Amino acid sequence: MSEPVMNEASSFEVAQQGRPTGPLVRGWEVIIGFETHAQLSTASKIFSRASTAFGAEPNTQASPVDLALPGTLPVMNRGAVERAIQLGLALGSHIAPRSVFARKNYFYPDLPKGYQISQYEIPVVQGGSVSFYVGEEQKTVRLVRAHLEEDAGKSLHENFVGQSGIDLNRAGTPLLEIVTEPDMRSTAEAVAYARELHKIVTWIGICDGNMQEGSFRCDANVSVRRPGQPLGTRREIKNLNSFKFMQQAIDYEIRWQIDEIDDGRKIQQATVLFDPETGETRAMRTKEDAADYRYFPDPDLPPLAIAADWIERVRAVMPELPRAMAERYVRDHGLSAYDAAQLTQGPAVARYFDEAVAAGAPAKLASNWITGEVSRRLNLHDIAIDQAPVGAIQLARLLARIGDGTISNNAARQVFEALWTGEGTDVDQLIEAKGLKQMSDTGALEAIVDTVLASNQKNIDEYRAGKDKAFNALVGQVMKASQGKANPAQVNALLKARLG
Ligand code: ADP
Ligand code: MG
Repeated sequence: MSEPVMNEASSFEVAQQGRPTGPLVRGWEVIIGFETHAQLSTASKIFSRASTAFGAEPNTQASPVDLALPGTLPVMNRGAVERAIQLGLALGSHIAPRSVFARKNYFYPDLPKGYQISQYEIPVVQGGSVSFYVGEEQKTVRLVRAHLEEDAGKSLHENFVGQSGIDLNRAGTPLLEIVTEPDMRSTAEAVAYARELHKIVTWIGICDGNMQEGSFRCDANVSVRRPGQPLGTRREIKNLNSFKFMQQAIDYEIRWQIDEIDDGRKIQQATVLFDPETGETRAMRTKEDAADYRYFPDPDLPPLAIAADWIERVRAVMPELPRAMAERYVRDHGLSAYDAAQLTQGPAVARYFDEAVAAGAPAKLASNWITGEVSRRLNLHDIAIDQAPVGAIQLARLLARIGDGTISNNAARQVFEALWTGEGTDVDQLIEAKGLKQMSDTGALEAIVDTVLASNQKNIDEYRAGKDKAFNALVGQVMKASQGKANPAQVNALLKARLG
C-alpha cells in the first residue's frame, strides 16, 4: 500500500523551503512547531473499560489493562478512533485506512509498565492544516500528523515531604497528539494557532479543552536562525497549560536562545519546563532521539482499519465548523468578518446568535449586542453564555422593540439590565413599567422641537454656518426635553425639516 509515512526529522527542513521569512528579533528569525496532547472525551480509557473521569481518588481508576499486568490484553476504544476521524475531517487531513500501534519504550515513575502505546510509522491522521487570523493577517499552519496514544499516570509532588506519589488514574486516557510543521514565526502566531486548535477540538466535541486539568497540553518547539539559513537546534517547552504561560514561556525562550548565541554558546537540543514563578524556562533533560525509544509494532494490537463508509458516517454527523459558519454569517447576514469571527469563538455563542436571529432579532443588531453588552456582562461575571440570565429568545424580544421603534438603544440597555438582574422577565412589561416607550405621538414631538428651537438661536445660527456639532446639540436638547423618549431618527428628521 502506498501510505504516506511519518516525516523524518530532516523533512522538516524540506518542508520549510520556499516559506516566507518571518519578522526578525534582533536579526534572528523565530521558528516554532507545536505538539499538542488533546485528551479525548470518551467515558472510558483507550484500551480498557476504566473511567476517564477527572478528580477521582488516586489509583481507583487504573485497571490491570492500563497497567499492562500479565494476562491482560488491550482492546481499542471505537469512540477514540471516531474522535480522531472527526479531527481529521475538521482539518482536511488524510485519514489512514490502516494505521499501526507501536510501543514507545521508556521508563518513568508514572509509566511503570515501561512503554507507552502510541502510533509511530503510520499515524491515523496525516497532513491537513489549521487557518486562523493574527490581527488582520490570515495564517495557515500545516499539520504533519495526529496520532492516537495513551496518556501516562501522574507524579504528585504536592502534599508530600521528601517523597512523591504516583496516581495512575490518568494511565490509558486516550490522547490525540497533534503535530505541526515548524511553520510558526512568532509567539503571537503560536498562541493564535493554539487558540484556534483549542477552539476546533472543543467545537467538534472531541476534547473538553480544560487546560487546568491537563485536557489540552501544548509542547512548543522553538529555535532561531539567520534568515535563509538551515533550521537551528530546537528546545522543546513541555506541557504549557495556559495561553498566558504559553506566551510568556515562548517569549522568554526566544530571548534566552538569542542571548546564548550572542554570548558565543551553542544551543543544545533539550526539553525544558516553564516556571510561572520565575517566568523562566529550565532544562529538564537532554532530548532523546527516536532511536532511544526502540519503537516496535505492538504485538497485542492488530492494525487499526478504518473503512471508507465509517468515515462517511462520521462526516454526516459533523457539526458545521467555525470557519464555515463565520463565512455564512458574512454572506447571509452581511456581518463583518471580524464580528463573524467573534460570534464563532465557541459553539455556545454561535448557537445563541442563531437562536436570537431565528426568533426575529435583526442580525446586525443581535451581533452588536452579543459582542457588546452581552459579552461585557459575561466577562464581568466570568460566566459562559449558556449560563447568561438573559436567554437568546429574550434578547430577540428586546431587540425587536428597538427594531420597531418602541424603545431606543439606551432604553433597551435599561431593560436588559432589569432582565439580567431578574427584576423582570417580560420585555414589554418592563418597558411599560419603566416608562421607556419612545414618543410615537408626532404632534407632541413637534411641540418639543419647536420649544427647543425657540430658545436655541445660537445653535441654529451655527448649524446654518455649517457646524454639524450645533445640530447634534439640538438633537441632544430635544432628547433631553423628551426625557429620552423621543425616537432619535424621528428627531433628526423633524429638525432637518424645520431648519430647511
Ligand atoms: P519529538 O519532539 O517527539 O522528537 P518530532 O521530531 O516529530 O517529535 O518533532 C516535533 C516538533 O518539533 C514538530 O512540531 C516540529 O514542527 C518541530 N520542529 C522540528 N524541528 C524544529 C526546529 N528546528 N525548530 C522548531 N521546531 C521544530
Ligand atoms: Mg516532542
